[in-house]
Amino acid sequence: MHMVEPGDDCFKRFFYDAAIPMCIAAPDGRLIHTNQPLCQLFGFSQDDMCSLTLQSIVHPDDRESTERYLHALNTGQHNSHQVERRYLSATGEIIWGILNISAVRGQDQSTSYILIQIQDTTERKQLEEQLQYQATHDALTNLPNRVLLNDRFIRALARNFRQQYAVGLLVIDLDNFKVINDSLGHPAGDAVLVAVAQRLKAFASDTVVTARLGGDEFAILLEYACDESDAIELAERILDELEESFAIDGHAVEVTASIGVALSTSVRDQPEDLLRRADIAMYRAKDRGKHRYGVFNERLHGQRYGQLAAENDLRRGIREQEFILHYQPTASIETGQIVELEALLRWQHPLRGLIMPQEFIGLAEETGLIVPLGRWALEEACRQLGSWQRQPGSSLLRVGVNLSNRQLEEPDLVEDVARALSASGIRPSSLTIEITESVAIMNSESHRWVLDQLKHLGVRLAIDDFGTGYSTLSRLRHLPIDVLKIDQSFVIGMDDNTSDVAIVSAVIAFAKALNLTVTSEGIETESQLEQLTSMGCDLGQGFMIARPLAEIDVPDALRCLDIVASLIAGPRVPELISA
Ligand code: C2E
Ligand code: CA
Ligand code: CA
Repeated sequence: MHMVEPGDDCFKRFFYDAAIPMCIAAPDGRLIHTNQPLCQLFGFSQDDMCSLTLQSIVHPDDRESTERYLHALNTGQHNSHQVERRYLSATGEIIWGILNISAVRGQDQSTSYILIQIQDTTERKQLEEQLQYQATHDALTNLPNRVLLNDRFIRALARNFRQQYAVGLLVIDLDNFKVINDSLGHPAGDAVLVAVAQRLKAFASDTVVTARLGGDEFAILLEYACDESDAIELAERILDELEESFAIDGHAVEVTASIGVALSTSVRDQPEDLLRRADIAMYRAKDRGKHRYGVFNERLHGQRYGQLAAENDLRRGIREQEFILHYQPTASIETGQIVELEALLRWQHPLRGLIMPQEFIGLAEETGLIVPLGRWALEEACRQLGSWQRQPGSSLLRVGVNLSNRQLEEPDLVEDVARALSASGIRPSSLTIEITESVAIMNSESHRWVLDQLKHLGVRLAIDDFGTGYSTLSRLRHLPIDVLKIDQSFVIGMDDNTSDVAIVSAVIAFAKALNLTVTSEGIETESQLEQLTSMGCDLGQGFMIARPLAEIDVPDALRCLDIVASLIAGPRVPELISA
């Protein structure tokens, strides 16, 4: 049989015309003949290429193993070999390729030449790397994601097994992101997340991973933590780092965060265990008043389970229809006449007695249970008003219903309101929907659409707790609202704080200019009422006028307060006199 030798014409044509990069090397790796595709792949001229060795064109990290393969080939252990390798091009770029080397042996079996083929796989490798990157990084901030974080956690824990180190985890949750997002819009919200990510990334190193868990939640993994103090020190530095405001779209945006700290306690810990503990500590920090950190301990664990129990209890309470409404009158400041009743939720708990909203509204909002609960309150308040309006003299009475931000995000809200109106038969204008300031100033199209739709139904819209949010009076100008309810804190402050007097009177004047009705909340003293009267405030609510009443006490109170009103103001509107 005729062997093809490198000197043959046939071989030469095969070699030089081949599309695949090839070369012939001496047993020691020196390149002797190289074909054009190989020179093209590496970016060297034919001559330059022939002054190199196989060892010099592979990536430095792969040189030693290449040396070993050559040795195995030359000593007859193998005849050929195939492996995927990295190489360096003339310009220093990494090339990936499958290396095929085989020995051409002489009579004595010693290696005469080495045939080398390199099949370029750079593009495929790059694509793989890109996919790998996408699977392990967050697209918005480019930070590692949960997948990569878990992976690093597991490796670190295994490495630390025999050492005196624990793995530390900080969960960082922005306190006010929703307000930022709602008031400045989603693109600005994204810009804030990217800017926060950048600041947090500064803490990353070979052994510290900064990741985004999703939404406004970030995490930092400390692969080697001696003890809690390492993680706490980092938490303090992060809080400091966030002190300086962010410049977003020409706004100075303040960002605060709550941080939960937890340390691994066993090699059997799973990433979820540590995340859960850090989460519990983070919620605890939030409960204690934001922009602070909390460290996990077992006692907190119990409390979190307590919350779970509370959630189940709330679910049960809704199912068992344990909720009722109390109604607090709002009166005309000028005449004392009751014009509206605000529906306020109460929970008649079989074991704990009557529970006030502060104790369950937060949990109901967090768990989404406020949606069914709020829907019930709306229907019930409308139904109840319908029956009171049928009493003589009360046909103009209105009802106010509080709407949580969460409800405004429900796609069915407008429909729910329309249904409550038609089922009760009350006029749309008899219903005032109270929303908070943060919702009112949302830039988002969908929220604006909801407000417009509600307005379109003919209901009245009120801004509740006005003055406690971020809105400016001028922004309210563009919203379809009818009423401003000045928060109780300003009214209380009027007794001894002159700046609160100035604020309240300015708000009243502004509201009048915009044709809005102003209600003052929480009027408790004679002097507050007098001042508000002189400022021209339209309506008032507070213990001084009436406390929230059980449904059964409402008709009496309406009559009673009407008599007081008629004494203050003389004859009333004809319809009410006839009562
Ligand atoms: P809010 O809407 O600002 O309701 C007024 C709260 O102030 C009521 O507390 C009322 O009892 C209290 N208040 C009224 N006058 C005075 C006063 O002169 N002095 C003092 N110290 N307090 C006064 P309540 O009933 O405990 O309700 C607390 C909050 O719970 C409400 O604040 C509202 O934000 C929320 N809430 C109540 N019912 C509902 C509901 O059906 N849905 C939703 N989403 N939230 C509700
Ligand atoms: Ca209210
Ligand atoms: Ca209020």
